[in-house]
Amino acid sequence: MDFRLTDEQELIRRTAREFAETRIAPIAAAIDQEERFPVETVRELGALGLMGMNLPPEYGGAGADFVSHAVAMEEISRGCAAHGVIMSVNNSLVCWPISAYGTDEQKRNYLPDLASGRKLGAFSLSEPGSGSDAAGLQTTAADDGDALVLNGTKAWVSNGGQADVYVVFVRTSKSHKHRGISCLLVERDTPGLTVGAKEKTMGIRASSTVQLSFADARVPKRCLLGVEGQGFEIAMKTLDGGRFGIAAQAVGVAQACLDEALAYAAERQAFDQPIGHFQAIRFMLADMATNIQAARWLTLHAAFCRDRNEPFTKWGSMAKLFASRTAVQCADANLQIHGGVGYTRDFAAERHYRDAKILEIYEGTSQIQHVVIADHLMHPSR
Ligand SMILES: Cc1cc2nc3c(=O)[nH]c(=O)nc-3n(C[C@H](O)[C@H](O)[C@H](O)COP(=O)(O)OP(=O)(O)OC[C@H]3O[C@@H](n4cnc5c(N)ncnc54)[C@H](O)[C@@H]3O)c2cc1C
Repeated sequence: MDFRLTDEQELIRRTAREFAETRIAPIAAAIDQEERFPVETVRELGALGLMGMNLPPEYGGAGADFVSHAVAMEEISRGCAAHGVIMSVNNSLVCWPISAYGTDEQKRNYLPDLASGRKLGAFSLSEPGSGSDAAGLQTTAADDGDALVLNGTKAWVSNGGQADVYVVFVRTSKSHKHRGISCLLVERDTPGLTVGAKEKTMGIRASSTVQLSFADARVPKRCLLGVEGQGFEIAMKTLDGGRFGIAAQAVGVAQACLDEALAYAAERQAFDQPIGHFQAIRFMLADMATNIQAARWLTLHAAFCRDRNEPFTKWGSMAKLFASRTAVQCADANLQIHGGVGYTRDFAAERHYRDAKILEIYEGTSQIQHVVIADHLMHPSR
């Protein structure tokens, strides 16, 4: 098996790494402390072709494969986890479902602007009363001639504060749980839609996570993505594809932790020697590096299977489960290696520690990844 990247994939890695090191990493601490959405660098991500990576060029995309997507996600997230989630949502949770289920008109209307960074998208499945059990969503969409009338509250919408368009999942039928869900493309300026205040999150503070409230918001039926009742399928297929992206985000965060831990271990003196001379520290570094490499290969393998049109759901869940755990462990080890200063806001170790935890929660918690993996083990034909 050959894990080497092609020349094109290497070029994308170098481009993303250089951008992350020169434009993103230098502002990561400030935008975290100020909880400021990085409008300018997100536009620049678009100009680099990183906001619609897998879209065909006819819709303004970079036409890249999913391995390239994973590689770029890792590099951007190594610079700043918040930029990683902004990029991931736009690519995997917005551009992808529109390209897979949209009409020609919907694709032409949204994809070029989303891919270029002129516009931003958000994905709105969760509600205050339903997260893991997504089919329990309660926001209703009542039939009213050529429109659907939305009422209800959506929760945890990443990119929501800045988004121009929302991929929103609503209930169009109460008699069927899963098949009663439909998906709509809702524009930000829709009368009756209120975008809530930014949530006060523990980490990824530069991203904007908000609630959306719908009060008799009329959305034309031509904004349905796919057909009525197809929403749950769209949500699950979209999240399936998003997971290796979050795994790549986790690898990037973990790698940033290892980079910093190595540098600090070489520099910090204790007992007349660098702390990197102590076996206790060396073994932590060795475990970090080993887990990161395993997580990276699980992630690239999931992306590789997707590129080959092979089943990748189980691989994507394994990658997300393992890589997010690795990020949390590496963030903990990095902070420990930094000792007291790691616990202050003067060092990035503290930010990584807060950023890493979300990777085990969004786009399916670790428990839900266990459910998915076990389901595939018990029913291999799925
Ligand atoms: C910062 C942030 C950003 C987010 N961004 C988005 C977004 O852009 N769009 C969006 O739609 N959502 C988003 N989410 C929501 C996120 O996907 C959910 O929080 C997540 O799916 C978990 O749902 P929940 O919070 O309702 O927890 P619950 O589903 O209530 O779960 C609570 C606990 O029970 C466990 N649990 C639940 N069911 C099972 C089961 N069957 N077996 C074992 N354990 C189980 C869970 O693992 C968890 O530990 C975001 C969340 C956060 C915090």
